[in-house]
Amino acid sequence: MMRLRYRAAALAGTTLLALAGTVVPAQAALPTADRGPACFEPSSIGAGAAARGGQGFGDRDHRDITPAQQRAIEARTDKILANKGKPGTGGGGGGVAQAGNVPVYVHVMADANGAGDVSDSQISQQIAVLNKTYGGQESGTASNTGFTFTLAGIDRYYNTQWHQDKSSSTYRSQTRQGGADALNIWLVDFAYLGIATFPWDYNRNPGVDGIRVHFDSLPGGSIANYNLGETATHEAGHWLGLYHTFQGGCTSTNDEVGDTPAQGSATNGCPEGRDSCSLSGLDPIHNYMDYSYDSCYTEFTSGQTARMQQMFGAYRA
Ligand SMILES: [Zn+2]
Repeated sequence: MMRLRYRAAALAGTTLLALAGTVVPAQAALPTADRGPACFEPSSIGAGAAARGGQGFGDRDHRDITPAQQRAIEARTDKILANKGKPGTGGGGGGVAQAGNVPVYVHVMADANGAGDVSDSQISQQIAVLNKTYGGQESGTASNTGFTFTLAGIDRYYNTQWHQDKSSSTYRSQTRQGGADALNIWLVDFAYLGIATFPWDYNRNPGVDGIRVHFDSLPGGSIANYNLGETATHEAGHWLGLYHTFQGGCTSTNDEVGDTPAQGSATNGCPEGRDSCSLSGLDPIHNYMDYSYDSCYTEFTSGQTARMQQMFGAYRA
């Protein structure tokens, strides 16, 4: 609910109560893949999806991928990596270097009147944010992931239905460009900050692969606390195979990454010293895969870098 409240408060001309009152019907009207708890919807249309923000059903969001599904994904990934002669996900990296330059196709989905038609300048600023965050440039402890992003194309559509993320499987399939290694970003207006597909679902449904990001989360956008462009960083993290740092809650498996301390629930804001699990380590509130404010985000860890490189090698290279 926290996330919704902050999103709602940020929407010009919309009162908190009015938007809150629309949550249930708005959710019911969304395509199947976008419904339900805020974060994970592994297989509703054959393509995994993960969202930042949105309806925010408290602690339900990190249960959308069950422990059994999570184990199956890890096992499948290990098998693919073994077939490619690469170390598995449990090895903590093992020197896998499968990062590279990612071509980025940006699809501006404005409405029929041009609302949401972000500028070319905002888009280049967004690409710069991706390069800064994946380059580990926001903190001394941040990992340089090795991934770089190059703008490969911008297209613009003026379709109110698409702008509102209606028929999203259709519009994504009709507009997606590039192969498995290409990041497609659709800029829309919806009740989420962003939604991503996972790399292990690419083969089943390549046409919808990519991330949907609220157009007002770009640098210069109007969503208070979430307008520095780091929603795209977070969603691209899912696209590269990362879970939330609070995936799995207070368990040792947690998000499958050894150097992100277990976290019981999503963070809101930037509460320094938060510790939601009795397991060792404070909550990684500055991690791009938590739900903190953009201004609070400063890093990926080296364990996350290793996982993204492994996932890229398994599914996108
Ligand atoms: Zn997320």
